Amino acid sequence: MRNVLVVISGPSGVGKGTLVRSLLAEDDRLVESVSCTTRAPRAGEVDGRDYFFITQEEFRDRIAANDFLEYDEHFGNFYGTPRSFVERQLKNMSVVLEIDVVGALNAKRLMPRSAVLIMVAPPSLEELQKRLLRRGSEGEEQFRERLQRVKYELEQAPLYDYVVVNDDLQRAKREIQEIIRKEKEKEI
Ligand code: ADP
Ligand code: 5GP
Repeated sequence: MRNVLVVISGPSGVGKGTLVRSLLAEDDRLVESVSCTTRAPRAGEVDGRDYFFITQEEFRDRIAANDFLEYDEHFGNFYGTPRSFVERQLKNMSVVLEIDVVGALNAKRLMPRSAVLIMVAPPSLEELQKRLLRRGSEGEEQFRERLQRVKYELEQAPLYDYVVVNDDLQRAKREIQEIIRKEKEKEI
């Protein structure tokens, strides 16, 4: 069986973080890559677990050193996937990335054999708004920015290998587990 790079994307609030946490809890052959970001931590976020929170200056230095497999800017902040962690872990197990559409396509271009792109979609836009509001982690302006980006993100679904609707959390999790199982069995 091969190891795969599971790339999970989808609009903010759709449930990516929740799904990834439950996938990791049930699979000790799966590890998450923690991204670096220049945005400020939200309440409850822990450095090194949710993100590595670094300064703009450090981020630029690391771009120059080719330390990122891919990186992008969202809402005025930088986000990047540490290259060495992903390459090292993939030798032993599968790796999950929770990144946006542009980052996902870059990951596929850079690692076409390993990358499996999964778009998590909401059952409806109304439900997505409810989840974002329930999480309550953004101010009003950030909330609007994130909502405006939703349409663009969902339009990219045809570029993905799989689209999973996060209607019921347990059902969506099982669907992703099945995708990973099948992809690991493929001879490429
Ligand atoms: P993302 O990481 O995509 O931004 P989160 O994982 O933070 O989204 O989820 C946003 C909110 O939606 C959280 O409050 C989470 O508990 C809730 N949520 C996630 N999946 C579901 C689901 N299938 N049904 C109902 N609520 C969900
Ligand atoms: P948030 O600020 O809500 O945590 O994330 C904002 C956006 O950045 C989300 O779409 C998330 O998927 C994306 N993101 C998080 N980490 C990375 C990364 O390492 N690379 C890229 N390209 N996007 C990322």
